[in-house]
Amino acid sequence: MNYDHILVRYAELSLKGKNRSQFEKRLQHNVRTALKDSFPDVQVKRSFGRMFIRLNGHDEQGVSDVLRGVFGIHSFSPALKTGNDLEQIKKAGLYAMKDAMPNEQGTFKVSAKRIDKTFSVKSQQLNYELGSYILTNTDEITVDVHKPDVELRVEVRQDATYLTCRTEYGPGGLPTGTGGKVMLMLSGGIDSPVAGFQMFKRGVEMEAVHFHSPPFTNERALQKVKDLTKVLSRHAGAEIKLHVVPFTEAQKKIHEAVPGEYEMTIMRRVMLRIAEKVAYRRKALALVNGESLGQVASQTLDSMNTINEVTNIPILRPLVAMDKQEVVEIAEKIDTYELSILPYEDCCTIFLPPQTKTKPNREKAARFEAPLEIDAIVDDAVERTEVHQLSSSEELDKEFEDLF
Ligand code: ATP
Ligand code: MG
Repeated sequence: MNYDHILVRYAELSLKGKNRSQFEKRLQHNVRTALKDSFPDVQVKRSFGRMFIRLNGHDEQGVSDVLRGVFGIHSFSPALKTGNDLEQIKKAGLYAMKDAMPNEQGTFKVSAKRIDKTFSVKSQQLNYELGSYILTNTDEITVDVHKPDVELRVEVRQDATYLTCRTEYGPGGLPTGTGGKVMLMLSGGIDSPVAGFQMFKRGVEMEAVHFHSPPFTNERALQKVKDLTKVLSRHAGAEIKLHVVPFTEAQKKIHEAVPGEYEMTIMRRVMLRIAEKVAYRRKALALVNGESLGQVASQTLDSMNTINEVTNIPILRPLVAMDKQEVVEIAEKIDTYELSILPYEDCCTIFLPPQTKTKPNREKAARFEAPLEIDAIVDDAVERTEVHQLSSSEELDKEFEDLF
C-alpha cells in the first residue's frame, strides 16, 4: 500500500452551472500543463467536484510543490485509494494512521463521507467501525473528536474510496485562463511584477507591455524585464507575450515641448494611450499597473486623475492600497524581488527634471500636450512595437509580426 494519489479540492466553490464546469476543466488543463515537463507519467482526472492525481511512482513532494502554486486549488491531500469494501478500508485506515504516527502515540478522529450512497455502511457507522479497528490494532493511539493530532478523512466515492490524513493549501483564486485577458504594464521595478501576480490569482490571461528607451535604457535592462516575464509565466503556467514599445522618440518630443514639471505627467499620458492601443489590438480588456496610492509623485490622486483622463479602458491597480513592505514580501515569495532590485535604468526616470508636479491638473496637461502630435507619436510607437514570446522553460523570443 502506498500514497499513490493526490486528492485536490477546488477554491471558489460558490461558482455554479456552466461556469463551474469550465472552471474545473480549465484547472485540470492547467495542472496537467504545470506537471507535464517534470512529471510526465502523472494522470490528472476529475470526478464529481474533485480532482485526482495519480502519481504513478513520481515523487509526492515534487508534485505538491507544483500544486501549491496553481491558482484555483484550495487544498490537496496525499491519498490512499482502495476499493469500496469495508475490510479494505479498515486496512488502509490502519496503514494511514501508522504512517502518520510512526511511534503510535497521539490522538485521532475519523471523518467519513459516503458520496456513493449505494455503499451499505453509513458515514457514522464507518467512523465507528474504522475507529474501533484502529484502536484495537495499535497501542497508544486514542480518540479525540475535538482536537485530534490526526484527522483521518475517508471519502467513499463512486469509483473508489480515498483516505487522507494531511491537508496542504494551494493559492486559492480562479484558474488562469477563466477570466479574460489583461495587459500588464511591466517595468523593471518591484511593484508591477507583483501586480501581475496578484491578477493571475483572479484567473486572467496576461500579456505584458514594456516601454524601452534605447540607448538610454540598455539591453540588460530589457533582459531584466524579459526575465521577470519568464518568472511570471512560471506562475501562470503559460507563455506570456511581452510587447516592447520603443519609447525614445516619444520621450524626446515630450522633453522638447513640455515644461519640466509636467513632463512626467505627459509622458504617463502618452504611455497610457500606447498601452491602451496595444491592449485592444490584442483583445485585452483592461490594463494592470503597479501603482500604489501616494507612493511617488505620479501616484497621488491628482496625478492618477490627470493621467487616467486620456483613456477609457479599465485600469486595474491591485496594489493601490498596499504598503511597500507588503509588496516586497510578495515579491520575495514569488521570486521577482532579486531580479527587480538589479540596478538598471528605467525609461521613466531619464530626462526627468528633479521637480515633478504632485498635483498636476487636467487643463494644464491638455494645454501642454496640444503642440505635440499625440496621435502620430502613439501610432508610430505602436507600429514599431516588437513582440517576444516568453516562457519559464525557454525563451522563444521570436518576432510575431502577424500578431496585430
Ligand atoms: P514599479 O516598481 O512597478 O516600477 P514604481 O513604484 O517604480 O513601480 P513607477 O515607476 O512610477 O512606480 O511606475 C508606476 C507603474 O507604471 C508601474 O508599476 C508600471 O505598471 C508602469 N510602468 C512604469 N514604467 C514602465 C515601463 N518602462 N514600461 C511599462 N510600464 C511601466
Ligand atoms: Mg518604476
